Amino acid sequence: MGVSESDKIFQSLAVGKRKPRVIVIGTGLSGICMGMRLMAAGYDDLILLEQADRCGGTWHYNQYPGLRCDVPSHYYQYSFEPSAEWSQRFCGGEEIREYFERMARKYHVFERIRFNTQSKHAEWTGSDWAVDIETAAGGREQLRCDILIASCGILVRPNYPDIPGLDSFAGKVIHSARWDHSVDLTGKRVGVIGNGSTGIQMIKPLTDICAKVVSFQRTPQWVLPIPNRKYGDRGRNLARRFPIISKFYYVTFRFAMEQLMGRGIIKDGWSRRMVGKLCKKNLETVADPVLRAKLTPDYTPMCKRLVMSSDFYPAIQRPNAELERAGIDHVEPKGIVTKEGKLHELDVIALATGYHANEYMLPMTMTGENGITLDDVWKDGPRGYRTVALPGFPNFFMVMGPHSPVGNFSLASIAETQSAYIMRFVDMWAERKFEKVSPREDATERFNAEMLANMKNTVWTTGCKSWYLDDKGVPGSWPWTATRFRNDLQDPRLQEYVIS
Ligand code: NAP
Repeated sequence: MGVSESDKIFQSLAVGKRKPRVIVIGTGLSGICMGMRLMAAGYDDLILLEQADRCGGTWHYNQYPGLRCDVPSHYYQYSFEPSAEWSQRFCGGEEIREYFERMARKYHVFERIRFNTQSKHAEWTGSDWAVDIETAAGGREQLRCDILIASCGILVRPNYPDIPGLDSFAGKVIHSARWDHSVDLTGKRVGVIGNGSTGIQMIKPLTDICAKVVSFQRTPQWVLPIPNRKYGDRGRNLARRFPIISKFYYVTFRFAMEQLMGRGIIKDGWSRRMVGKLCKKNLETVADPVLRAKLTPDYTPMCKRLVMSSDFYPAIQRPNAELERAGIDHVEPKGIVTKEGKLHELDVIALATGYHANEYMLPMTMTGENGITLDDVWKDGPRGYRTVALPGFPNFFMVMGPHSPVGNFSLASIAETQSAYIMRFVDMWAERKFEKVSPREDATERFNAEMLANMKNTVWTTGCKSWYLDDKGVPGSWPWTATRFRNDLQDPRLQEYVIS
């Protein structure tokens, strides 16, 4: 076996162990995964900062009716911690959050989390990071660390739509990502604005209990049916006895998602056509041709994030459900008025209007080497080196950073790959192989240029608006296969880093 360029650099560096002080920002599935890896390797001088009062990230913030993950739970878990406890193929939000919290507790990550704590600013001092934090009570403090890791999520800050008169509504307005459980929806008239994955998931459970549900859709969505399946006690007992079963499910679902959805997203071909056919066939189950026409999108399936649901079409055809496509003109105290002048009288407005996507660690500010700021490096939008690092920001890494394959496959799998890669650098720092490391500017530019050139083949650029696209129409995701992603982050190419 030949000696690679990276191996040569490894061998030329000094050896001798030390323990880094590490700060991880965010405790969603990415931050917890990073924390687990650090703890498993014995790097326990670790603090995780969490602005909420619970861990779980998106699975903490989202608690709306019908919340469910549309990635099979066996594939939405860490491959090295398969669970035998999943209750169904597509589990609900709280069950998923509990899995991640269970993992945080198992690896003693949980007790290292500082809840209700926001990181406001991070500054490279020349030898370490100074991180300014603020507690919910308003207390301010500065922490120091040798290695700083941001795992702040992608869809965090809710998008409150700018609809005239929304403030004047006499009933309740609730955003899907800040659900208000004190509002009893039984027998109420509810308007749902937005029909992405969230708005569509809500319709069935709302029609179960509400007097009337109006779905306000600006742009129709393609919907792929995904029949759910409960796992009984016998199946779970078997999985407990034979962990290989859970692993088998993991590998099977991973193969299906990567080969079917993942492939169709990045290039045209049989898988894109097959998903399209399945969606069109699903749409044909809507009996009323007028309703079917209103529900028919005019763009390629998967251009917007594909909505997966087996119960939306049956639910929207219920007598207490109504689809409104006329467009919202304004809101008044009694309800929502469409551009055609129709007033929908409502008790509750549910905003399923998404997020300010792709903000990563923003609005936190950062200053790297020679006074360079995050605003400087992201003036043309969030970019990074192979999704995990930033030039000019030494000993700083990201899990789920810019252009991670968030639209392509399971986020748990992405977090695993990125955190394993970051661990290589933590180990190298511990072995005194460097004091500071950051990716080279030219390597970062080369990576981004190649990536952007490949975006033209992806389904995201086939003519629709979605949260994947930035304001210049550039997708913020990954234009290649899962295999390439794992290969790219297998071994650090040290020649693409500035090491000292
Ligand atoms: P989204 O996909 O961004 O959808 C937002 C919806 O709100 C769209 O229908 C949009 O219409 C509409 N909207 C936004 N502003 C509006 C306005 N001013 N007036 C009228 N309509 C407006 O958000 P999301 O549904 O919360 O989903 C975000 C992502 O979260 C998903 O794509 C998915 O990745 C993830 N998610 C996953 C699951 C899961 O099961 N794993 C579940 C929920 C969410 P336009 O389309 O016309 O812009």
